[in-house]
Formats: sequence, C-alpha cells, structure tokens
Amino acid sequence: MIDKHGNIKIALSGLEGFVATAETNFINVGERTNVTGSRKFLDLIRNDRFDEALQIAREQVEGGAQILDVNMDEAMIDGASAMKRFLNLIASEPDISRIPIMIDSSKWEIIEAGLKCVQGKCIVNSLSLKEGEDDFIRKAKKVKRYGAALIVMAFDENGQADSFERRIEICKRAYDILIQKVGFNAHDIIFDPNIFPVGTGMEEHANNALHFFQATQWIKNNLHGALVSGGVSNVSFSFRGNNAVREAMHAAFLYHGIRHGMDMGIVNPSQLAVYTEIPADLLELVEDVLLNRKIDATERLLGYADNHKQSEKKEKKEDLKWREESLEKRIEHALIKGITDFIDTDTAEALSIYQKPLAVIEGPLMAGMNAVGDLFATGKMFLPQVVKSARVMKKAVAWLEPYLEAEKTGGASNSAGKVLLATVKGDVHDIGKNIVGVVLACNNYEVIDLGVMVPADKILAEAVRQQVDIIGLSGLITPSLDEMIHVAKEMEQRHLQIPLLIGGATTSRVHTAVKIDPVYSGPVVHVLDASRAVPVTGSLLSKNNKEDFVRDYKSDYERVRYQYKNASAQKVYLSLADARKKKFRPSLQPEYFQKPNRTGIRILENLDLQAVSNYIDWTPFFMAWELAGKFPAILSDEIVGEQATKLFEEAQTMLASIIKNQLLQIRAVTGIFPAASNEEDDIEVVFGDRIVKIPTLRQQSKKADNANQLALSDFIAPKEAPVQDYIGCFAVCAGFGLDALVDQFEKDHDDYCIIMAKALADRLAEAAAEYLHEKIRKEDWGYSASENLDNEALIGEKYRGIRPAPGYPACPDHNGKKIIWQLLDVEKNTGIELTENLAMYPTAAVSGFYFAHPEAKYFGLGKITDEQIRDYAERTNMPFEEACKWLSPNRAEFQTPVYESN
Ligand code: SAH
Repeated sequence: MIDKHGNIKIALSGLEGFVATAETNFINVGERTNVTGSRKFLDLIRNDRFDEALQIAREQVEGGAQILDVNMDEAMIDGASAMKRFLNLIASEPDISRIPIMIDSSKWEIIEAGLKCVQGKCIVNSLSLKEGEDDFIRKAKKVKRYGAALIVMAFDENGQADSFERRIEICKRAYDILIQKVGFNAHDIIFDPNIFPVGTGMEEHANNALHFFQATQWIKNNLHGALVSGGVSNVSFSFRGNNAVREAMHAAFLYHGIRHGMDMGIVNPSQLAVYTEIPADLLELVEDVLLNRKIDATERLLGYADNHKQSEKKEKKEDLKWREESLEKRIEHALIKGITDFIDTDTAEALSIYQKPLAVIEGPLMAGMNAVGDLFATGKMFLPQVVKSARVMKKAVAWLEPYLEAEKTGGASNSAGKVLLATVKGDVHDIGKNIVGVVLACNNYEVIDLGVMVPADKILAEAVRQQVDIIGLSGLITPSLDEMIHVAKEMEQRHLQIPLLIGGATTSRVHTAVKIDPVYSGPVVHVLDASRAVPVTGSLLSKNNKEDFVRDYKSDYERVRYQYKNASAQKVYLSLADARKKKFRPSLQPEYFQKPNRTGIRILENLDLQAVSNYIDWTPFFMAWELAGKFPAILSDEIVGEQATKLFEEAQTMLASIIKNQLLQIRAVTGIFPAASNEEDDIEVVFGDRIVKIPTLRQQSKKADNANQLALSDFIAPKEAPVQDYIGCFAVCAGFGLDALVDQFEKDHDDYCIIMAKALADRLAEAAAEYLHEKIRKEDWGYSASENLDNEALIGEKYRGIRPAPGYPACPDHNGKKIIWQLLDVEKNTGIELTENLAMYPTAAVSGFYFAHPEAKYFGLGKITDEQIRDYAERTNMPFEEACKWLSPNRAEFQTPVYESN
C-alpha cells in the first residue's frame, strides 16, 4: 500500500485528524445513528428527541467507533433538516465530533445539507452511476469541492451489481471517471461493492459473499489507492431472529473480507462475535455458506441454527419456548404467528415422520391453517396476519415441491375445491383478488389465479380444462362491470353451471342482482370482502346445503331486482333541457379567474419519493387491508390497534426501503389550458390552434326547487363571460418498478410483501396527485400562492378548487381519460398507457382535471335518462350502445322515466 502518499490509506478528520495507514487493520464505522438501521434512533428523531439521539452518537464513540455514520432517510421525517440539525448538535459536542462523520443518504439534497454542516473532512455515503455519468460527475465534483471522501456504490444505469463481473466493471468505470474527469484523489475513493444476503435458499444468492470478496481483491489490486467498504449485517439477513448465527456470520465475513483487502465496514458491534471464539462446527458451516463451498451449506446451517436454540440469550429463549413443543404444535404456532424462520426444518421433520409430502400438507400444515381460518372467522386474527400465515404455508409447500413432483403419480389432492380467480379483460387491479386468493388458499382451496386483463375466453377455457369448482371475477373500474356480464353470458352460452363469484370495488349486490344474475342460470354470488369468500365458497361446495344456499341467493337477488325497479320507477327526472335551465352559474368576479403563471404542459420525470411520501393519506391503506378506522386513531383502536400498528410499522419499513433504494419511480405530466363552457355542457379547451371538447354530464334526478342540477362544465366560465377561464389536467403513476419489485417477492412466495408493495404504490400515486395539485395551486397556476396547509387539511380538501377524476361520480365516463391523454400526450410523456377499457397501466396511477373556481365542488351524477345518453353519444361521436356501456351504472333504463316539465 505504500505509494507517493507514504503509507497513508486515507486521511479524514473530525476535530481530530484520523489517518489510516497500511498497518491499520480495519476501520469500523458506528452505525447506530442511522434511522434505517436503528429503530430506537428512528423513534427518537421522529419524536423530536434529538438530545437523546445525541446520546446514541456518544455511546458509539465511547464504544470505539472510528467514524460515525449518520443517516436520516426516512419517509416520515424531513431528512435534510434532520441531518442539518443533528450534525450541528454533534458539532457542539467535542467528545463526539472528534471523529469523522459519514454522511449517509440516498438523497443528494440531504448529502449536501450535511456537507454544509461538517467541519472536518468527512465521507459521503454514497454516489453511484445509477442516474448516469453526467449526474455522477456533477455530484462528485461538488463532493470534491467540499473536500470530502466518497463512497461509490456498485450501481449503474442497469441496476445493482450482483456478480463479480458487474462489480468490477462498475467500480472500474467509476474509478476512471473520478480520476480522469473529476480529478479525485484516489485515496478519497471508497468502493462499496454490495454486500447481499447469503443462505437465502436461492441459488442465485449463493455466491453473494464470495463475489464480494473477489471483487474486493480485484479493486485493491487494480484500482490503486481506492478503498473498499460495505454494510456487513446485510449478509446474514435471512437468519434474522438467530443472533448466535448472525454474529458468527458477521465475524467470519469480516475475517475473509479483510483478508481480501476490505478496509472499512459498517458493523453493529453488539452483533459481532470474535472470530476465534466461534465454535468450530458453527464456523465451518458459516464459512461453507459464505464461500459457497457445499451445495447443502444453507440447509445445514439452518439445521444448526435450529438445534442450537438453547444457546440463545435468555429473552430469546423465552421467545423460542414454543420450539420445544411437539412438531404439530410448532407448525401450528409458526402458521398462526406467521414465523417463517423454522418452517423449512419443521417441514423436513414432518416429511421424515409422515413419509409422503401430501400427507404433510394435509396433516399438520392444513391443521394449522384450519386453526388460522377459525381465528380469522371469529375475528381473533386480522387480514395482515392471515396473509403472513399464508406466507409460511407457501414456504412449506415450496420446500415440499420437489418431493411432490417426484411423487406425481396421480394421487389426487384432497383440497377442499378448485377456485379460479381472474381480473377481467381491460382491468389491471388485483389487490382484492390477491387477498381473496390468499384467504381461500389458507382454507385448503386450490387457487388458480389467472392474473389481470384476462379475456372471457381464456377464463372459461381454463375453467373447463382444469375442472374448477368455482370462478371468481374481480375488477375495479366501471367497464369491468360490463365485462363481468359478458363473462356470465358466455357461461350461459356454454351451458356451464359453475358457481360465479363477483367481487371488486365497483361491484355491488344491486348490480350483481340486476345485471349478472339474470343472464346466468348457474349460482351467482356477490362477495363483499375477503372474509366472506370463505363461507360462501364453503356453502357453494357443500353437499348438504348447496341447494338451499343457491336458492336463497337467487330469491334474494329476485327481491333486489324488484325493489330496484320500483325505486327507480318512482324517481322523477327532469328533461335535459329543463335540467340545463337549473345549471349552476358561478360568480364571475375577476379574482376568481387568475391568469396562470405558466400554461401548457409540464413533465415531471421522477418525482421525489421522499417528498411525495409526506403526502400519503394512510386511512385508505388500512382499508385495503380490511382494517377499519381512521388514521392515526386506528393505531390505538381497542380492537384492531395492535395489528394496525404492526402493519403500519412494516409499511414504514418497506416504504423506507422503496425510497432508499429507489425501487419505484413516479412519473407525471400536468398542464393548464385556456377554456370556456358552452350551452351543451361541454368544456371547450384551447389546444394549440384547435378546440378540444370535454363533454360533461348533468344531474337529472329532480332536486329541491332551488337546488342546482350540476354538471362539471358549470364550474368553468361560459364563453360569453367577460373573463378568461382555464382548466388543468394531470396524470401521475407511481407504479414504475412495481412489477419488478413484486416479481422479487413472488420468488419468495411472499404474498404479504406483494400486497404491501401494491398498497404502498397506490398510496404513493394518490399522494403524488395531492402533491402535484398543491404545486399547481401555488406555482404553475398560482391562484393560491400563499396557501399553507398541513397534510390533514390537504386530505380534508380544505384548498380552493377540485380535481375530479374520470370514472368517479361527477364524471363517470372513463373516456375522459382519453381527452387527458390527448391534451398532455400522457403516454409519450410518462409511459402510462390506457388499456382497451381505459384502465391505466402501470397500475397505481391517477388522472383528472383541475378546476380552480372557489365554488367548484364534487358531486354525484346519479342516474341519467336515455335522452341524455343519446345527447352525449351524439356530442362524443359514439354509438348509443357504446355510451350505454360506459355509463351503465348511471343508466335509469329499468322504467320509462317519469319526466317532470317545468
Ligand atoms: N386522500 C385520498 C384521495 C383520493 S379520493 C387518497 O389518498 O386515497 C379523492 C379523489 O377522488 C379526489 O381528489 C378526486 O380526484 C376523486 N373524486 C372524489 N369524488 C369525486 C367526484 N364526485 N367526482 C369526481 N372525482 C371525485
């Protein structure tokens, strides 16, 4: 290591200098002042208890940390200001600030905020080539100007390096750029070639440690002067809950890392064993795993971990008392508690006792799942827990899979029945369907999930081919209702009698009764939520009471139809002309029609995840998990509080990781255009040298005499008004990257994380819509420049103006999206596509219009007459039948409408 700098490896400073030489064995970085790594630190920062947080920093220094890592990357805190505040506090504590700081963030603005605070020569952790060379150079130049050293992660435009070749390729490229184009001192460059978990049971992870070691050696030999660092605890991630094994893995990893040239690392000293004190048998197993020396290394280490539970610390022993119970009890416990840690070994043991893999599934595993089902049915367990149980079950079945394959000699399974699930053609939403699938699987049903956008033909062909017992259809957008009717008609055509379940947000008992049940002679049942799916399925498949059950439903739906018909027959509708006479006329004061600061479109390529996450409305998140209550009160709710809190914490963890690792990307486009309303309820938008019409629909069911019959066009100044009005629109999607994220979890059979990821992406999309709307009001349009609302007020829509979304009650026709797509060139500018039925893809997307008038408000269109649908069809140039399809839930066609003429 001796070169022109003498034998200095790296020189840093806090209040005191810190110089590492070739003789310095290993530099350890204190990692407890990191919100992503320490729950305690996170809680202190979140609750504004910076003094106590400072105490943690002090303990780190006293405990021998040579550099202090500080990380504030968390969704719920303002990272830049927290970083600034904490570093300034440290600066005033000489016994802490004597050592150098490592500013740790994936956000450039947080890094820069930190760089502005520290006095000595610190380390920036980290930059990478993820956003390309220009971005990297620009930021590295700044780091250099601030005089800091730099950690470079092995990450480029194509993702994280996960092989030896990719690691060295990216590090070499970054090194050359830093030396040649940025003028960095080689001794200020530190590479982090990615420490990933080993012992995960997945073949592609087996070389994770070995390739890190090899890459480290290569870097030290080829990229002269540069150092190597890494976050060590990641390597033992899959042994969470077993400290003895984790500590041994960390120690052995460091031992080999250092031998290969690793200079520094982020380590939790309390999770570090002394290499020489690791029991020889454990050490051998650990090294077999780290160095990928034996094919069955992971299994054997897992076996060891299980057998040596007694050596765990006392409180751990208490936690693990259940491990001493009988095999069946242990399996049940793991399923109920959702613990995956031991299920592989327990399943292996069960196989050795029960001999046949099927006997294991149908014996102890099903018994455990039945217990889960009972607890769920009686309200003693909640959906998030059940989904975790399913994860354990799937893991066990996955373990048995090779044996099942080997035995595949026609031994028919004893499942309670086969259920086919699909989201219908044109629709992409599947959270609800996934949940139903999980819950059914927990109850011993074999679930065949055909995914999303499945055409009727495919659903029915598969149903027949696989001889399923039940078909479940799901959908979220209104056109899916028609698609479901279509599937039901097709089933009748093909003379099927398979029971049909209908579910999804826009479906309803009334729609099922009025539109679906009459076209199919087989059983049809609307299933409100996942917890109902089990008893309904059970009844439909029971030998004894199926007939009664089906007859009851058919007659119930008959009654619903009768009531529906009568109710609508009594409704009084105004003719369209009369309804228009009662339109709302907005005040035309000039201050209500502010000229936007900026018209035309604005493309937002990559909205800041951290910033957007502060706008999340959490209440619907709990609804997605079928936990009822308003956030944050739900966290302390008597019944669901405990589960809600747990779910929320786990959501925070995943969200933090999504943000930190930029796993999702939010793209958006917005625009503001001059506009005026006309006599036919259209909004005429000035689009370049053309006029684009947004047709709106007017309420027709008669309201009280002085009440207005509303249409959205009422909120835009009429053409003849003496003011110039404008309308805005937007489309935003937080689902870029979601498929890849979900694939990752699919490999692990982890439905819990799949549903979590999708629910979070949905939240981010809605939050992004809120965030953009604020930006529009304060900046682009600027009519509320001085608005200052907190998140609660935003969620409560306390601002001026609205953003109605096509498909929602005021504008139920999803074709409104086509107009937005045209005005903003959405597909080209963001990549969000519309399916044939006008669902947005990738999912987790929101689009809508901006109305700025203070009197604009949301309303429900309600039922409208065929007269208006005909008028609308003419205005939009579509056939009447097609307009009926888009407006099916709004049609009042079950009677000859009673008109009232003024
Ligand atoms: N905070 C919520 C916001 C979404 S629901 C969340 O995070 O889920 C509210 C949105 O639905 C509104 O912003 C609007 O876009 C749409 N919306 C609600 N009622 C509407 C109506 N009557 N007509 C049209 N759009 C409506």
